[in-house]
Order: sequence, then structure tokens, then C-alpha cells
Amino acid sequence: MIYSYSSLNLYRTCPQQFYRKYIAKDTLPYQKAEAAAGTDVHEAIETALKTRQPLPKHMEVYEECISSVRGKIDRARIEQTIFLDEKWRFALTRPIKGFVSKLDVLLISEDGKRAVVMDWKTGKPREDTLQHDCYALAVFRAFPDVQMVTGFNVYLKTGKIGHQLEYSREAAVGIQERLALMIAQIEADDVWLPKKGIPFPCHWCAAHKCKHYPQEK
Ligand code: SF4
Repeated sequence: MIYSYSSLNLYRTCPQQFYRKYIAKDTLPYQKAEAAAGTDVHEAIETALKTRQPLPKHMEVYEECISSVRGKIDRARIEQTIFLDEKWRFALTRPIKGFVSKLDVLLISEDGKRAVVMDWKTGKPREDTLQHDCYALAVFRAFPDVQMVTGFNVYLKTGKIGHQLEYSREAAVGIQERLALMIAQIEADDVWLPKKGIPFPCHWCAAHKCKHYPQEK
């Protein structure tokens, strides 16, 4: 299995939902409206940055947020996917078992020693260091010259920036150990505990075979 920040986060949220989505693969093809709108915004920003064109009229409000990337576009990697194999080594192609990180924006300094990872957020402010931990590890493995990674969220609705997390290359080993521990815990799980309503209501869930799945939505 290929793990990712999203799958680890889903396991933390509700192991039963993780089981339904990634093991049983019997969740409904359901995406709540907010998530679908977020996907549209991400795709529009990706296209606008890659083609160096303005955002569509109804998304012009986000131009200011992405202007800092436009200013450094020659050094920016937009929607960068980084694969790590099961031994946490950089992999050029998708491995059978391993870890994948999808970075909205990756900027690498001219000397190749510093990297900045930005993640666009369309929802309410929610800081989760695990996400940037995963991204920092991916950058260190894919770019051996990078010594420091800064990661932060950009909240598109307000234009605000989240906490700036700084990672030195030495931190990579500790991150890798933490992620490996989480994966070992998932792989040893045979209970897949349903976390009914914690922290999010089951109303938003797509796991219709779970006994807690709301009958009326
Ligand atoms: S319905 Fe609730 S308890 Fe069941 S998988 Fe979904 S979120 Fe978890």
C-alpha cells in the first residue's frame, strides 16, 4: 500500500473509515461540496501558475495569495509529487509499497540548500504539523542538497499564513521513525475502531457499510 498524509490523517480520525476506504474499498464515491470546491480552486491555481495566466474571473480574489509564487515562478515546482519506497528512499516512479506526498508549491533556493513548501487551504484555519512533517521528509529524500525546509499553510479565504515550521535535515530521521510507527500501528490493526462523531460528525462520511453510517443524510 502507498501511504500518504491523507491516509494517515484518516486513520487518526476514524480507523473504521480508513479500513472502508483503503482496505475494503467500499466507500461511496461521495465528496462533500466544500471538498469539491477546494479541488476546483487547487486545479485553477495549478493551471494559472503553470501557464502563467490569470485565475478565472470568479477566483480573482485569490490572486494576491498566489502572487508571491508568481514572483519566483522560475524556481517553483507546482503540484510536485514525491514518492518514497518502503525503505523511505526517493523513488522516481510510484512504488508498490511506500509513501507519496503531493506538494502544492515547492520552492528551492538558487544554491539548492533551502526549500519552502506551501500548502493552499480553502477551508477554516486548521494547523496540523503531521502534514508538513511528511512534506519535509519527502523534500529531504528527493533533494539531497537541501539542508533546511520551511513549511506553511496559506489560507486563501483570508490571505493569512499559518505557522511556519522549520526543519533541519537532521530532523528527517525522527520524522521517518514517527511515520513508520504510525504505519506499523495501522498494519497491526484488526479491529478498525469506529470513532463515531469524533472529531467530525459521521454525517460527512462515505463509509456506508459502517454500522454508524447515518441512515438519513
Ligand atoms: S460512519 Fe462514523 S464511525 Fe463509521 S466510519 Fe464513518 S466516521 Fe467512522
